[in-house]
Amino acid sequence: MGRGGSLYPPLVCPFPSAPFCSIMLSGALACWAPDLGRARSIEAGSAEPTPPRIGRVMSRIYVALDLETTGLDPEHDAIIEIGAVKFRDDEVLDTWSSLVRPPRPIPYKIQHLTGISQEEVDRAPPLRSLVGPLLRFVKDHPIVGHNVSFDLRFLNRQGLFLHNSAIDTFELAGILLPHAARYSLGRLAEELGISFPTRHRALEDALATKDLFLALLRSASQLPLSVIREINRLAARVDWPLRQVFRDLERDKARFAFAGSIGQQLLAKGALGGEGFLGPLPEEGRPLRPAPRKRPLDVDELAAMLEEGGAFAERFPGYEYRPQQVAMLRAVAEALNRGEHLLVEAATGVGKSMAYLIPAVHFAVQNGEHVVISTNTINLQDQLFRKDIPDLQRILPFEFKAALLKGRSNYICLRRLAALRHRGDLSPDEMRVLAKILVWLPSTVTGDRGELFLPTPQERAIWGLVASDPENCLAERCPYRRQGKCFFYRARRQAEGAHLIVVNHALLLSDVAVENRVLPEYRYLIVDEAHHLEDATTQQLSFAVDQGRIEWLL
Ligand code: SF4
Repeated sequence: MGRGGSLYPPLVCPFPSAPFCSIMLSGALACWAPDLGRARSIEAGSAEPTPPRIGRVMSRIYVALDLETTGLDPEHDAIIEIGAVKFRDDEVLDTWSSLVRPPRPIPYKIQHLTGISQEEVDRAPPLRSLVGPLLRFVKDHPIVGHNVSFDLRFLNRQGLFLHNSAIDTFELAGILLPHAARYSLGRLAEELGISFPTRHRALEDALATKDLFLALLRSASQLPLSVIREINRLAARVDWPLRQVFRDLERDKARFAFAGSIGQQLLAKGALGGEGFLGPLPEEGRPLRPAPRKRPLDVDELAAMLEEGGAFAERFPGYEYRPQQVAMLRAVAEALNRGEHLLVEAATGVGKSMAYLIPAVHFAVQNGEHVVISTNTINLQDQLFRKDIPDLQRILPFEFKAALLKGRSNYICLRRLAALRHRGDLSPDEMRVLAKILVWLPSTVTGDRGELFLPTPQERAIWGLVASDPENCLAERCPYRRQGKCFFYRARRQAEGAHLIVVNHALLLSDVAVENRVLPEYRYLIVDEAHHLEDATTQQLSFAVDQGRIEWLL
């Protein structure tokens, strides 16, 4: 039963009379032959090992492995398909796959997800018959998988692969691709241009995992040697599964450090690119100077931008004119001109962001004033700052500055990071978070945690060890601040020079609580999603105490 095309020569089945052919693979097939009582793997074409093409990390033989199961719980669920790909660099040395007869029925949703039917697995061998061939295939090679601990939990229960090293492409991607939108195998494959036509089948998933792993290794090989060395120094005494990968990378980088121009060699050695792994930081702006006399907005001129045939219609194909949006823009502009309060109730789809951004930015620029915009959540802040404001910057004929300001704990504290790097007794979770931070630092200009992928509560708690924190801040005495490298103080300085300052309600209210010591002084404020402000105020400006706390205080 073939599935999809193959890059490899056609295979001749050695068991043509076998009643069941489990799967035909790209490059090899594994089938169950009841007369032989075992699964076989047959190598396609010439699978003679070829010399490694790129360095030590690529020269190892790995086995990418994937399972399909009846569910997520290894205690109660069972394996229904196993796929494995043995590879070195780009070369597939062999593949192995078989359906597995589970001791319980396959739930309908799993049949729907995988396309594997109950009838198919009823004709497949039980897992105990496949253990020997699978062990002989994998041997002691490192196992590569996406969320590999999931697959290994099922296999370890059968006593399989208890001592193989395991490399998780999910973990590696979280370190090497901090800006990926999502980290599922399918989404990463899409982002990296990896062909992945059939999903949720064991062999196809294993092949995609192999391609993802190779893409990640190539990405890792671009890291500065100084970063890789620091990761290895930190990992030296940590039982961290990715340690071997980074050790191999360091040896490869060190070998190739003498190739290329002098500049490339210095970069590879980490001699360029900034002390402490920081990338070049953007210039900080100068504080705004309010105009001596307020210049009012030309409301008709601003409204024309959103009218039919206006600047937005010309610039954005498919632009939809919305009279309610224009009415809101006029109301906001007039409120700014008159210095009045305004309350607007705008339905979803009105386009309220542009309706307030356009008058806000014109008013701020022509009067040298900050306009603070507060959103309910950090996600909305990011959307405004990364989507709507850049759209506006592209369309307006003048320059303006915008700053995103978040709560202090969102910014990394370089002094606390240095302390953690020198602590010496790191856990594997701490090691993983530090690796993420070290890879990300040369590329960040904000030091904002939102740019990192920290999916678990443990990782977010570890971030707390390196986050900017008033209790642990040396402020003016801090060498990082004196050198202009402190991300938190840089963000504040940038806000002082920004026309639009985008905050969230929590930060806005913290500023209220400490009498305007968080934000630069401002006189104009737009509260987006203001219906959340009451809840946010209750949360920010109240405190809770329980009996335990009172007893502790007493
Ligand atoms: S000034 Fe404070 S927050 Fe900034 S790096 Fe120094 S100690 Fe950390």
